[in-house]
Amino acid sequence: MKLITTDIPCPSCNTPLTNYDGFSGACGSCGHQLDDETGGVLLAAVMAELLEGAYPGAGSGGAPPKVCKVCRRPLERKIEAGTGSESWHHHDQDMLSGHKPIPADADTVDVRSRCDFCNSDLGEEMWVLPCRDFIAGVHPVTGQNQGYAGDWSACGTCAPLIDKNQWNALLRRVQKGWEDDHGVPAPAEKVTGWRVLYRLLRKNISGSIYRAR
Ligand SMILES: [Zn+2]
Ligand SMILES: [Zn+2]
Ligand SMILES: [Zn+2]
Repeated sequence: MKLITTDIPCPSCNTPLTNYDGFSGACGSCGHQLDDETGGVLLAAVMAELLEGAYPGAGSGGAPPKVCKVCRRPLERKIEAGTGSESWHHHDQDMLSGHKPIPADADTVDVRSRCDFCNSDLGEEMWVLPCRDFIAGVHPVTGQNQGYAGDWSACGTCAPLIDKNQWNALLRRVQKGWEDDHGVPAPAEKVTGWRVLYRLLRKNISGSIYRAR
């Protein structure tokens, strides 16, 4: 899965969807309602422009093009509103590492890919959950829209929970992983954020989870 953060224009008034939450998604400027399917199509169109040439194999679970040279984690690409200039950042989960990301081409680094749910290293076992692209709301700091592209990967512990539809157990595992990493209880809004994200994800699952390696 790749997280895309950028402005997505309202199909009615063309201003960024500032208060779109993926469920009651109404445009903050004109009130235009976006249903799930229209939102997915819109995101796909915006992403097609953004990803053109930048993510070979996007959506196929392939490695993203930039990886941090220091921690070997895939980096997140941010597109500035207006100028369209791009920059590379650690994912939220890797912010604790305490170093600045040093972007390198993915094929020059032995990438440590992660479980898209609990963030653990995938290692020998990797599962794939087929999923449509979807818009999931607004970044709390930048105010830009967030979209999730491509299939989601899962580790050998998260995969059976998804397969058996045990999403509350999965959420508890994700929360515990975050708390072990950070050494503090997860803030309520963080937990709510995961719950909302997984509800959206479940609406967009497009096939059964399968073992990829
Ligand atoms: Zn609008
Ligand atoms: Zn790093
Ligand atoms: Zn996992």
